[in-house]
Amino acid sequence: MSNIEQTLSIIKPDAIERNLENEIKEMFKVNGFKIINEKKIKIEKSEAETFYKVHETKPFYSDLCEYLSSGPIVVMILEKDNAVLENRSLMGATNPKDAEEGTIRKKYGISIDKNSVHGSDSAENAKIEINFFFKD
Ligand code: UDP
Ligand code: MG
Repeated sequence: MSNIEQTLSIIKPDAIERNLENEIKEMFKVNGFKIINEKKIKIEKSEAETFYKVHETKPFYSDLCEYLSSGPIVVMILEKDNAVLENRSLMGATNPKDAEEGTIRKKYGISIDKNSVHGSDSAENAKIEINFFFKD
């Protein structure tokens, strides 16, 4: 049975800065994702704090929010069968050092904080995150 889902993807500042936007989008497309909507934006630290609220007690929270708001990002709605899990698997492990060959983070990630992409971690959070950036 098919399970077409949408998930939120972000190309983070480290990747935009290195002009990897098109290469990363190509990886999504060749892996069967449709880009349903996208925009390049720069967010305020306060917006990053809301987006990453689930991590507010973590020691890296402030640096993470500072970083996500440090430069342009591309936010995208991706669609595919089982898009949430499929995107997590294409992204690879949070720490690029642990990411498998062929994943975006293995290929482009620099470090655990500069790991090039974000992806929703559940169907429920995908809806919340899509709504956060594309509420119109
Ligand atoms: N992060 C970090 N240090 C850590 C763990 C996470 O800087 O020790 C950052 C990293 O950029 C990661 C983001 O916080 O992508 C969100 O963490 P999460 O555990 O949700 O990882 P993800 O879902 O992005 O793989
Ligand atoms: Mg996460």
